[in-house]
Amino acid sequence: MRILTHPNPALKQLAAAVDAYADGELQRLVAEMTKRMREAPGIGLAAPQLGVLKRVIIWELDDGLNTLCNPRLVEASEETETDEEGCLSVPRISVPIVRPVRVVCEGELIGGETVRIEADDLLARILQHEVDHCDGIIILDRAAPEERLAAIRRYMTGEQD
Ligand code: ZN
Repeated sequence: MRILTHPNPALKQLAAAVDAYADGELQRLVAEMTKRMREAPGIGLAAPQLGVLKRVIIWELDDGLNTLCNPRLVEASEETETDEEGCLSVPRISVPIVRPVRVVCEGELIGGETVRIEADDLLARILQHEVDHCDGIIILDRAAPEERLAAIRRYMTGEQD
């Protein structure tokens, strides 16, 4: 498997919920996702980026590797922040994206345990970015119209940000 890049149509698809109890299959998927994320390298990845249309995300910050099945954003702060965001599926490009500063994300661990994550700043941004992938949304879709066009132009001409 490899990380798919824009404009691969798989990145535009709605991913399906997974059975978090089916751990053998999910462990294999997450092992592959982890390998691809680390070799990229990146700090987050969603299964649809490998062409697997399942709602599974991973991320890796200082506290180690985390996996979440069927992630759901159940709360988001009114306060927002704009920050440059990149994506392994849109290589070389970063675009400013407005997102809530704090979110609460629920989902299941592999094995079925339900978890609730209260996140802010970078983790909140990663969770929103990866949930977007599960919904077929990439950073180019989130950017403001004029920045979106400029970013697409840079991407298509292979310019470096
Ligand atoms: Zn991404």
